[in-house]
Amino acid sequence: MMRIGVPLEIASGETRVALVPEVVARLIKTGFAVSVETHAGERAGHGDEAYTAAGATIAAGAPELYAAADAVLKVREPLPHPSAGAHEDALVREGALLVGFLAPARSEASIATLAERNVTTLAMEFVPRITRAQNMDALSSMSTVAGYKAALLAATAIGKFFPLLMTAAGTIAPARVFVLGAGVAGLQAIATSRRLGAVVEAFDVRPAVRDEVRSLGATFVQLDLNDAALAGEDGYAKELSADQEHRERELIAQHVRGADVVITTAMVPGRRAPILITTEMVRAMRRGSVILDMAADTGGNCEATKPGETVEIGGVRVLGPLNLAATMPEHASQMYARNVSALLNLVAPQAALALDLEDEIVRGCCVTHAGRRRLDAAGKPIPGVAETAGAKAGA
Ligand code: NAD
Repeated sequence: MMRIGVPLEIASGETRVALVPEVVARLIKTGFAVSVETHAGERAGHGDEAYTAAGATIAAGAPELYAAADAVLKVREPLPHPSAGAHEDALVREGALLVGFLAPARSEASIATLAERNVTTLAMEFVPRITRAQNMDALSSMSTVAGYKAALLAATAIGKFFPLLMTAAGTIAPARVFVLGAGVAGLQAIATSRRLGAVVEAFDVRPAVRDEVRSLGATFVQLDLNDAALAGEDGYAKELSADQEHRERELIAQHVRGADVVITTAMVPGRRAPILITTEMVRAMRRGSVILDMAADTGGNCEATKPGETVEIGGVRVLGPLNLAATMPEHASQMYARNVSALLNLVAPQAALALDLEDEIVRGCCVTHAGRRRLDAAGKPIPGVAETAGAKAGA
């Protein structure tokens, strides 16, 4: 029987927890034992008593929790523990399983330590975006939360209503929202802005999203980039050529100028976020308008964005919020817990580890196993390790 440990997240500002009581109860029914560090779920609305009622035991602190766990389920990457006197990568038991957003690009040393210590690590951000893995896609879950919250933040940041209002004081025109990038976060920002009554336009380099944008009641801004090749097989966009980028910016400039709110979500995996809005475009906007740059954590889609800060240029505010999912810890944790437990059920079907490295999902997210590093910081297979003879490429 596999013993799961759920620690209290120690990253600054982190409020989420890897398992919620509802999911704990389901895992226990499957045959797992679950231990939760005291206070781990409090910021997400779940006290220790709720976990106990679901069948979990409560660990008094991180050292006890980690020492007893065959599988540690976390939200964030391992960090130096403030009170346990050790790094979390050293607290995980040798040979154990660790699952979470491992941020390999900024956790190189930790990943090396975990590999050395024979820990099997699964990075939630590398779960492939394929149909079979949809219920494990935590990036999409967190982007859903973040896209929703981004629209709400933008709505409260402008000095206008979102909806059209017919009042005794006359008609109030609806706000105009322009969403750049209609992936998971963008579609949720569109849907939320529409629900609040704004007039919404959206742009994406992948023409495939046009119908989805329209079905949400928004207008799709079209740019003919001769772009059949722009949507990668993995469901992500590809980088644009210099000429395509130039034409894209011209089109964007026209629409940005007329918007009260611009929400940007454009990204290409493993790259810096593309700059779509120049400072000049910001200056051309009406005073009081707002840009909410969701790509702030990967450099920003707006030239003026400062990650985690609000910048003001000519009366236009540029917001670069980070970790929006942590501002809605209850639902973010619930969604994350369902995703992480779906992955756990795949790798430990009878509550015992049975890692199938030929499985596309496992191969896509297993960063370390059997003492070796399998994926690089961008999630690409390390030649000679992760590319096993029988492995099917890509797909
Ligand atoms: P996604 O891959 O589903 O969507 C990104 C979209 O951007 C895709 O539809 C893609 O086609 C589009 N795109 C790429 N290049 C473009 C370009 N040059 N012009 C227009 N569109 C372009 O990703 P997602 O899950 O929706 O995440 C979107 C962004 O939001 C990412 O940068 C992600 O890091 C960020 N995010 C931020 C927070 C936060 O708290 N700030 C939370 C979640 C996600």
